Amino acid sequence: MKKEVLLLGSTGSIGTQTLDVLKAHADRFSLLGLSCRSDVETLYRQANEWKPKFVAAEAPIDETRLPAGTVAFSGMDAAVKIAEAADADVTVLAISGYAALLPLLAAIRHGKRIAIANKESLVCGGALVDAALKAYGAALLPIDSEQSAIFQCLQNGGRDEVKRLILTASGGPFFRKTREELKNVSLDDALNHPTWRMGRKITLDSATLMNKGLEIIEASRLFQFDADHISVLIHPQSIVHSMVEYRDGTIMANLSKPDMRLPIQYALTYPARAESVCRPLSLDLEHPLEFYPADLDRFRAIRMAYDALRSDGVMPTVYNGANERAAELYFAGNIGFADIENCVEAALNTIENRPADSVEAIAAADAAARYAVDRFVKMLNR
Ligand code: MG
Repeated sequence: MKKEVLLLGSTGSIGTQTLDVLKAHADRFSLLGLSCRSDVETLYRQANEWKPKFVAAEAPIDETRLPAGTVAFSGMDAAVKIAEAADADVTVLAISGYAALLPLLAAIRHGKRIAIANKESLVCGGALVDAALKAYGAALLPIDSEQSAIFQCLQNGGRDEVKRLILTASGGPFFRKTREELKNVSLDDALNHPTWRMGRKITLDSATLMNKGLEIIEASRLFQFDADHISVLIHPQSIVHSMVEYRDGTIMANLSKPDMRLPIQYALTYPARAESVCRPLSLDLEHPLEFYPADLDRFRAIRMAYDALRSDGVMPTVYNGANERAAELYFAGNIGFADIENCVEAALNTIENRPADSVEAIAAADAAARYAVDRFVKMLNR
């Protein structure tokens, strides 16, 4: 029996690479549904090629452009509606940003497998997502390359034998720049990642190191380790995707070419391993592999993430919401690159913590974070 896959966020970078993997393993998987936010032209093309039963978009859908009989959902809650309607064996969550939280909770209610590329929903959802996973018996399989690496390395020992998780970070395109030099970097520089080709928001997050900050919190959510058991190591080549150190001093590492199709595939086929479309790694051609400590004074985004995780409650939501808003303002040309972490710091300093015990509490904190950033930027530009 083929496994039916629902792909939420099909037109983005992870979405299109997921389709590559499904195509390579058409004997194992079929596509049940596709969704996107606004790129409906790509959605129509994908729907006509794959002929899924369901499609969804936040933008209006012209049903005459879809194969006859396709069930279509549109509007703000389209991703939630398709997740509720399609009882897929595997839901791939490749939506970008906080917007993935409600679709994630909807998918969890089917009690099946969710291959998750979105980290913002885990960062913000926290204990609420945990409780839902337990209540419905759903399983999260990480697609994020670092979390996939840790997931695989954790299979080599017991939980109580783990000394720490070691997240690797490429350091982004500005790893060697001073704080002063960062003030003058351009949008093109920020979007020129040294090792990975990804969507715009995550590429910017990699340059600011906000992505690594989010991954610290994401790792804590996925694997239930606290901040003291998660460390970050700069590794510019992005060959070692992350590591787990055990109490006897053994470090297990996960290595491959930086190609998201590999962790996508593993999240789909786990616990089995299948042939891959990715180029294999030739370690004799990949030297040197370098590692540097992550300086928390230099990388404030990482320090703030640790603080937000230790505070927990809605502070991880504030961290994420402020970063999402600052990224929008940066893309719109309203603030400079170095202002992004100042925006996040301003939001963290002005919003009071409270329990993240409901979707409403999380949504309120997200809105407050965005508002705090707007107020801070207004002051900056005065
Ligand atoms: Mg990652």
